[in-house]
Amino acid sequence: MVWLGIFRDSVHEHRDYLTELDAAIGDADHGTNLTRGMDAVMAVVDADDAPDTAGTMLKAVGMKLLSTVGGASGPLYGTFFLRASAAAGDAETLDAEAVLGMLRAGVAGLATRGKAELGDKTMVDALTPAVEALADAVSNGDDLTAGLRAAADAAAKGREATTELEARKGRASYLGERSKGHTDPGAASATMLIEALADAVA
Ligand code: ADP
Ligand code: MG
Repeated sequence: MVWLGIFRDSVHEHRDYLTELDAAIGDADHGTNLTRGMDAVMAVVDADDAPDTAGTMLKAVGMKLLSTVGGASGPLYGTFFLRASAAAGDAETLDAEAVLGMLRAGVAGLATRGKAELGDKTMVDALTPAVEALADAVSNGDDLTAGLRAAADAAAKGREATTELEARKGRASYLGERSKGHTDPGAASATMLIEALADAVA
């Protein structure tokens, strides 16, 4: 899947940035966690016997992330992909509504797993606005390219908005007030995930 390759490249390119964000309000491993996870994912995706439908591919991705990325983000991104896989089912092609269904299910699963709500200063703050923007685009009859571009812009806005928030979930929440003034690393990587999907479809 082109999406996953672009995300892997982006995570590699921005590994130090993600780790610096996590150094400020966490334990400085977000960039290395995700590069390790996405390298393992791409080994599955690029294999000769790689899964051949979107649903089975996304399921393998989720399982790989669960088993290779420790900490909070592994189970969260793992759950995202497992739920997206279930929503994709055995569809052969994914139109705008199918992509929306996949992202919506993935984000709902991730938020439930993390018990995170909008405003808790997590990846949910980038992902939820992205799903809403894509849903608006789909209901306006926009095509998938335009819808995902809007989703990526909304994710980036959500990421920026995490800077002033006080963290209420994950390691950053231990800092309380002192987490303010720092962008959430998970919101930054989640924005890259949506940007990668927008680039893959464009
Ligand atoms: P860890 O915090 O275990 O070191 P990472 O550094 O890989 O894991 O990931 C940290 C990111 O995970 C945070 O920036 C935040 O976006 C996200 N996160 C942590 N806990 C939660 C949660 N309960 N719900 C949603 N996202 C969370
Ligand atoms: Mg960390």
